[in-house]
Amino acid sequence: MIPVTSCAGQKIAVLGLGRSGLATARALRAGGAEPLLWDDSHDARDKAEAEGFTLLDLTRNGAYEGVASLIVSPGIPHLYPDPKPAIARAYEAGIPVDNDIGLFFRSFATTDWDGFDTTPRVIAVTGSNGKSTTTALIHHILEVAGRPTQMAGNIGRGVLDIDPARDGEVVVLELSSYQTDLARALTPDIAVFTNLSPDHLDRHAGMGGYFAAKRRLFAEGGPDRAVIGVDEAEGRYLANQMAQGPQDDRVIRISSGQKLEGFAWGVFARKGFLSEWRRGRQVASIDLRSIPGLPGAHNHQNACAAYAATRSLGLAPKLIEQAFHSFAGLPHRSQTVGERNGVRFVNDSKATNVDSAAKALQAFPRIRWIAGGLGKDGGIKPLVPHLGSVVKAYLIGHSARDFALELGATPYEICDTMDRAVTAAAAEAEPGETVLLAPAAASFDQYPNFEKRGEDFTTRVQTLLAATAP
Ligand code: ADP
Repeated sequence: MIPVTSCAGQKIAVLGLGRSGLATARALRAGGAEPLLWDDSHDARDKAEAEGFTLLDLTRNGAYEGVASLIVSPGIPHLYPDPKPAIARAYEAGIPVDNDIGLFFRSFATTDWDGFDTTPRVIAVTGSNGKSTTTALIHHILEVAGRPTQMAGNIGRGVLDIDPARDGEVVVLELSSYQTDLARALTPDIAVFTNLSPDHLDRHAGMGGYFAAKRRLFAEGGPDRAVIGVDEAEGRYLANQMAQGPQDDRVIRISSGQKLEGFAWGVFARKGFLSEWRRGRQVASIDLRSIPGLPGAHNHQNACAAYAATRSLGLAPKLIEQAFHSFAGLPHRSQTVGERNGVRFVNDSKATNVDSAAKALQAFPRIRWIAGGLGKDGGIKPLVPHLGSVVKAYLIGHSARDFALELGATPYEICDTMDRAVTAAAAEAEPGETVLLAPAAASFDQYPNFEKRGEDFTTRVQTLLAATAP
């Protein structure tokens, strides 16, 4: 745990008692503050009381009397579509509103560091897609390099839950737009922006607000090094703003598809090869095509981001390449879960929107595509240009019939359930084909979350392969 000492002796309200909220309350208490906790859910409040925390109903008149600040969990709307009433009250009372990320950046460095040989560093990763994969890949490369490292944020552990830094440690944080939007301190040493596509627009009042939230990671603290994906206009604008000119090597531009040879520092992937260019010369190249944990151009973008971040820490290209080969990939993101007779079964249950599904559809040549669930606004029309590799679609869930209407000439079958879809796709698949779960839809019509949907797919595939093993 990272004790939050900057609030010692103060009453600090904590709203939202999930994993990060409780970790925050513990870190505040350990640092000498008096946390006062609230959550709409009875169960969450009971759990907090069982840990000996004091509750304070933040929706009541006068709740903020004597309170120094309010710490909010990322899942709770703080501005759009409307601020949660407890947060609106804090604004009215002039109480500073922050989150665990802001507390982390103010608490991470301690006087122990005076005795360290190598100052600990923080790498923070944001973007619309690929954050988790890039974060996990950076962490993996550092582990392979034998560097002390911890990973936290949106990817699992609350940021205040990690252990205090060791000599030379690198902490890798995945930060969502909700987290970067509210944090009052954002000072990573290396900031990474993977890409941008529309998501969570209701929470940010549109694309401008969404980009502004992510941009804060770069604008607030001024990282020593900014790794920026320049495949969209927003990334090009951000890179332009962060650099004095094209020869400023504090910015490393990355791309999946474009050559970036004219800058002080560029890392790009084209036709399956990653290239690093510095001041007009190529300094390294890696063949990404045979790396099992990073299939497709989208993962090559993640590889470029992780490569750039770890290169800027001084790691050697050969070592990074070796680490790419041993990266297992994350569950539910282009994850190979079985193989038989030349047919590969891939779980990309995390492809909950059309953008990530489009990337998965471009990653494999001949696809038996399992799709559907709770469709999002706008349907799957944007996927039509990427259906060329789809041999047949097997549609499940609430949106199955709506999706079928948009498929044009692509053959399809309404399967409704995962069980039927896996059975049909596996029976029809031929050598060289991939049975791909990339739903382009949320899971909530049939599952509690995308993880359970991915597990269901994986279990059914594995049962089927075991039952028909030679
Ligand atoms: P995030 O944490 O940003 O949601 P993940 O690494 O969990 O990103 O991947 C989310 C989804 O997006 C998965 O379906 C994955 O296959 C896909 N994806 C991964 N990297 C990228 C990328 N660079 N661009 C577009 N889609 C990606």
